Formats: sequence, C-alpha cells, structure tokens
Amino acid sequence: ADGYEFVVVANRLPVDRTVGDDGEQHWTRSPGGLVSALEPIVRSSGGAWVGWTGAPDDDTGPQEVDGIELRPVPLSAEDVDRYYEGQSNSTIWPLFHDLVEPPVHRRPWRQAYDSVNRRFAEATAEVAAHGATVWVHDYQLLLVPAMLRALRPDLRIGFFLHIPFPPVELFMQLPRRAELLRGLLGADLVGFQRPHAAQNFLQLAAGLLGLEPDDDRVAYEGRTVVAQAFPISIDVAETDRLAADPDVQREADRLRAELGGDRRLLLGVDRLDYTKGIEQRVEAFGELLAEGVVSNDEVVLVQVATPSRMRVAQYQQLRERVEREVGRINGEFGAVGRVPVHYLFQSRSPAELVALYLATDVMLVTPLRDGMNLVAKEFVAARRDEQGALVLSEFTGAAAELDDAFVVNPHDVEDLKRAIVAALDAPPDDRAVRMRRMRARVQAHDVDHWAREFLAALA
Ligand code: UDP
Repeated sequence: ADGYEFVVVANRLPVDRTVGDDGEQHWTRSPGGLVSALEPIVRSSGGAWVGWTGAPDDDTGPQEVDGIELRPVPLSAEDVDRYYEGQSNSTIWPLFHDLVEPPVHRRPWRQAYDSVNRRFAEATAEVAAHGATVWVHDYQLLLVPAMLRALRPDLRIGFFLHIPFPPVELFMQLPRRAELLRGLLGADLVGFQRPHAAQNFLQLAAGLLGLEPDDDRVAYEGRTVVAQAFPISIDVAETDRLAADPDVQREADRLRAELGGDRRLLLGVDRLDYTKGIEQRVEAFGELLAEGVVSNDEVVLVQVATPSRMRVAQYQQLRERVEREVGRINGEFGAVGRVPVHYLFQSRSPAELVALYLATDVMLVTPLRDGMNLVAKEFVAARRDEQGALVLSEFTGAAAELDDAFVVNPHDVEDLKRAIVAALDAPPDDRAVRMRRMRARVQAHDVDHWAREFLAALA
C-alpha cells in the first residue's frame, strides 16, 4: 500500500517561509536541533512531516522541501487564537510549568484544541502507510495519539513531551483532565524529559483512571503503554563547529572589547517567557550592585530576551516589568558610556549566540521551571576552552545531567546572588574541572542519541 513508513507530527512544520526578491515564496529548513536530528531519519526512512506552517489562513498544499515531505495542516486565525495562543499557551503551558502564572480556562479554547487535534490526527491517518511508525510531539497535540489510534489501530505511535509533566495534584485542576490523559494513553510509548515526569504520568493513570502501573508501564485497553525519560539534547557537532569558526571567535573578542575589556561578562539567553526566571535574575544582579558586591566597572550583564508569544497579555506584562527593572538598574548604577545591563529584546542567530557564549564568564540559566533548557547545553558544548561557569536552576531538565554547574533555586534571590558570586570567584582550575565533566556528558548524549534511543524503544 502507499503512504509513508515514518511520520513526524508536530505543531510546526520544520520550515520557514521566506519571500525572495522576485516576490516568490520559498521554504527553508528552520534551524534547531530537533529538525536537524529528525530530518535525516525522516529522509532515509521515506518519511513525512505533518504540521502547521506558522501562518494563519495559509492554504499551502503538500510539498517536498530538502527531502522532507511536508503535509501542512491549515489553521484559521480563530484556531490560532483559541487552540494555539489560548488552550496551548495560556492554559496547558502555565499549568504544566507549575502555575508560575495562573492558567486561563476557556471552553471555546478547549473546543478548538479538540478540533485542531482531530485535524492533525486525520491528516496523519491519511499519509501513514500500513503499520507505519508515527512520532507525535508536544503539548499542543496531547489528544492526537488516542484520536489517531481510533482511526488507525495498525500504527505504532510514539509521543514525546518537550515540556515538564506536572505533579498529579496540578494536572487534576485541568478541565477534562481524564480525556487529556486518555489522549496520551493512545500512544505505545510516552517519552518525557525526566524520570520524575514519567512517574507523574503513571501516578496520574493510577489515580485518575484506576489503572495499575507496573514499573515503567501500564496496561490500558488491551495494550501496554510505556512511559520513560529521554532527555533531549542539542546538535553538539554544529555548536562545536560554530565555536571553532575564526569569524565567531573574532566576534567574541569584539564583544568583550566592546563591553569594556576588563569587565567580567554575565549572560542570559532566553525567550522572554515567565517560566525563565528573568525577573528574579535581574533582581539578584541589581541587589549585588546595590550592596557593592559587584560594581559596574567590574561586571556586566547581557540579557538576550527573544520576543515570544507577544499577542498573549501575560507576555506583554512580563516585558513591561523586565524593561522597567532594567531601566531602573541602569539609571541607578550606570555611567555615561557604560551600563550594567545590556538588554536585547531581539532574536539572535546560532552563530551570534555562540560568540556570546564564548565571550562569557558566567552563564545564567535560571528558569523557575523548564522541561530541558537547550541554552545550558549549547553553552557547555561551545566552551572548547573549558572555561566559563554555568549557574543552573535545579528546576530545569538540564540540571539532572549537569550537576557540575553552580546549581541554584531561582525562586530564592539570596541563593541566586550566592551562586553568581561563587561562579565569579571560582578558581580557573575548579571551573575547568566542572566544565570538562559537563562537556563529557553533553558530548556523549547529543540530539541524535536522543532520537535513536526514543525510536529504538518505540520499535
Ligand atoms: N535561540 C536562538 N535565538 C535566540 C534565542 C534562542 O536561536 O535569540 C535558540 C537557542 O539557541 C536554543 C533554543 O532557541 O537552541 C531555545 O531552547 P531552550 O530549550 O533553551 O528554550 P525554549 O525557548 O525552547 O523554551
């Protein structure tokens, strides 16, 4: 029979649309580890990718880009409001990140989430060959595994959740919680970033549906559903290539000189998201300046805050709070031609980020909650010189692997200040020992390793 033997299903297709000088539209592969890890697998296994183009009311048809068969699922502007910005990013996102902002519950959002998930399941059922392997990704598509299984019981279905899976008592707050759980139980394998998340899921299956988990699996409707951790990673070779590039290294030198050659550089790189702990980080730095523990002459903070979800009110409010605090700190502690916080509400290319990583003395990765945090792994992979220190929140998936970082509770501003000072003061050989161990871990577990492990377990 026809159809594809391997199908990836994700909210977004792995491409970005650009309009050339000729006015023609082109599709280019979007950067990022997930796409570069899955692309060779999709290509070599005769695969397809089901997802949204990222533009509302877009009627792009099926097409092939760079050896990947794309199957766009169209979303109307209303779908984008309700399924994507609403149910996905204003309900599920904050609830799965431990309620660091209150989730919003709206019935029309849930209806749109249902109907969009159904469209994804139908589009997948249409392209998958008999007995094909399907890999569904992330919190926008929690209902897809069960919907797809109902349409196509012959398929092997894997699901991977890129964000945290909350404790039982938080998940229980979700309207229609049992239906969402049943959605995931439609998969044969449910993958998480951390073992603890897999345990939350199995406990929920017991508590909510009365199922009886046995170790890492649970019997459900005559099948076995396995729940395991597969910590995602980065394209280590690509980060290493950028870090070895003389142009990137020159840019790192230029950045250091520009910021005042003798100042130590603290760096934060995050989407401007309330889960990232940016406010607490800036506050901690401001207090260190106010207390005279560090001075504007000795230390500088660069915070890249990449614009994200700016149509959602909570993100606009976060932006205002962060910008007010940065302005206050620069006003209070800055001098003409020299400010303590360089705040960039901008997106940066991978090469530009690696140049920043190389210029950095202390990298600050302090989310209040984060499924993994790839920036932490990129920083480590970039530091071929085995220098630079990492301050890392214990509430990231990365902390489970990078315990040689300066681990911190980001809710505790005093602890943040302690960790920043400890990282700044650490002797070079201590930093090198820590960095060597972290690099060994990241190099041994890159994103290809992650994809292969998941697919081997699914097979
Ligand atoms: N990133 C980027 N440009 C930016 C900011 C981030 O290319 O301006 C990349 C970064 O290198 C990393 C990813 O976006 O690969 C962010 O992943 P992470 O897990 O740290 O956080 P997320 O944004 O997925 O919550």
